Amino acid sequence: MAFTSNNGFPEHPIFDVHTIREMQEIVPGLYLSGAQAAGALDYLKAFEITHVLQVTDIKMPPFPGEFVYKIIPVPDMDETNLIKHFPDTNKFIQEALDKGGRVLVHCQAGASRSVTIMCAYLMKTKGMTSSEALLFVQAKRPIAGPNDGFMDQLQLYGDIEFDVSTQRTEYRRFLIASMAAQREMFGYIDEMTLAADPTVIQGSGSASSSSSIPSPAATTGRPLPPLKCKKCRRALVSRESVVSHMPGEGQNAFQYRKRDGTLHISQAIQSDANAASSGNIVNTHSNNACQSYFVEPVEWIQGLHALEGKVSCPKCDSKLGTFNWSGEQCSCGTWVTPAFMLHKGKVDG
Ligand SMILES: [Zn+2]
Ligand SMILES: [Zn+2]
Repeated sequence: MAFTSNNGFPEHPIFDVHTIREMQEIVPGLYLSGAQAAGALDYLKAFEITHVLQVTDIKMPPFPGEFVYKIIPVPDMDETNLIKHFPDTNKFIQEALDKGGRVLVHCQAGASRSVTIMCAYLMKTKGMTSSEALLFVQAKRPIAGPNDGFMDQLQLYGDIEFDVSTQRTEYRRFLIASMAAQREMFGYIDEMTLAADPTVIQGSGSASSSSSIPSPAATTGRPLPPLKCKKCRRALVSRESVVSHMPGEGQNAFQYRKRDGTLHISQAIQSDANAASSGNIVNTHSNNACQSYFVEPVEWIQGLHALEGKVSCPKCDSKLGTFNWSGEQCSCGTWVTPAFMLHKGKVDG
């Protein structure tokens, strides 16, 4: 929080404003700021900045010949997927530091987007939790405060052990929730992440569709078979893509939220692994009130760009259920959003 107006930075009478306008060194060689510091060339040069990670709405760097830039042009919204950039941003920061460079991470205010990127780096390299990382940053830059969606993504980043991969169930479900939110806001989904067709997993073992995560049952040596079409026996959905919900309560089974009191998805997965571990989260296949399985959207489901539609068996075409990106109500009373629903009478579980 040093007063550094003599380094080319415009003077201002209020100290707090300086703290906000200046950049702060979070760990040696790694700085954080808003757009004003990042736009003050002499100031950056005085601190011997070599690399700039710009996370604003703007695609152009202000001083392209002066610094090595990495630009992530994303809005500061809960729905923005920042976690998918963490592997790249961590790499950019680490490689610059390893070369003896000095890195500035900045966004518009130096409060949300850049702080999220900074926290992700601290978590990965210093073994901090998301809240420890935020406290660490706030000690140097008090206005640091990522939006709720970004805080959830930092939490998720820790939960998936920094492995941002669709092979991670929690990450897949986060992406599905993001797709539903995008469809609701814009009426379309630009990039679909779908659960693998279990017949493809068993057949080819292709890297994009196989899962390296031991399913809960696999860890006990008794892998549960996939859900199958009752009529033709075709495998439909692997067990790890069956989604639990709390019977009789309105909620979003895909939502990755902890702090607002709704279901934390890793709890749901844990309940799949050990149905007896929780009193109020019930595995769908052990609850008689639920006449449907809710699953992740799977590759073979047709017409997923529509708001809603039928789910038919890819082999015998018998009607298995329905989907609706806005959600559907289970027979137990719970709304599940988005909903990809297979009637229990039509599938063997
Ligand atoms: Zn139900
Ligand atoms: Zn069938």
